[in-house]
Amino acid sequence: MEHAIERTIRSLKKRQIVGWAAEDAAEAREIVLKIVPAGAVVGTGDSSSVRQIGMVEALEARGNRVINGFALPDRVTDIQSLFDRAFWPMLQATLCDVFLTGSNSLTEDGRLVNVDGVGNRVAGMFWGHPLSVLVVGRNKIVKDLDEALDRVKNVIAPEHVRRKGAPTPCVKSGRCHDCVGPTRVCAVTTIIERRPAHTDLHVVVVDEDLGLGWDRSWPEERIRSIAARHEEFMSLCPLPVCALEPGSSERLWEMAKTKGSRVRQGQA
Ligand code: SF4
Repeated sequence: MEHAIERTIRSLKKRQIVGWAAEDAAEAREIVLKIVPAGAVVGTGDSSSVRQIGMVEALEARGNRVINGFALPDRVTDIQSLFDRAFWPMLQATLCDVFLTGSNSLTEDGRLVNVDGVGNRVAGMFWGHPLSVLVVGRNKIVKDLDEALDRVKNVIAPEHVRRKGAPTPCVKSGRCHDCVGPTRVCAVTTIIERRPAHTDLHVVVVDEDLGLGWDRSWPEERIRSIAARHEEFMSLCPLPVCALEPGSSERLWEMAKTKGSRVRQGQA
């Protein structure tokens, strides 16, 4: 696997993306602390990989303010808690110094392929911050774009939605059926093929299994271990509470107005 990591880091470099190799979680934390300036405000996107390596705690211990809409104990149960615990911090995390998250997959030729239900996690990778940092476990490396799309649609999304308890067809069959209902978790698919023009993008590839993702051909034991670790660190936002019907967003905006948006008030 070491060879795959080295190959992938070289490919990232060709695409103007800075790749780092970390032997383990401890080295990954050191690298991220080196990349992120002391004093920078860091916004997070939902990532069990980031949580697994203890990155939020390490940044806070160093003195960075971390905007985290995905704290594990904070379960969303209604629209007000969705706003307070998820929507508002996610909005703040969209416009700060640094964005920190993981990636669903990374091809050996250096492409980052992701699916997202809300869109904030993928958007933060390429827009809104001068610096974005992605933490990626070795299990996320795939051969090429076809394998990446197969992985995100037919492994990661069905497993993710199964845990949320939503009745999408992929939960039953284990394969994507391109559903269009409110509980679709993969509303947005992104492929980053080169450094985004206004964002310094760093990818820290860790020689450990992190987050959700595996190849179906891997030994059952490894897959079970990845799934169990991910479940321990996943942030559960239950469906359909977190997938608002069209029109419900009006209520979120009403709540946002009471908080005061600097942009809308012309103060930004
Ligand atoms: S589009 Fe629907 S069926 Fe396909 S993976 Fe996403 S949630 Fe599952």
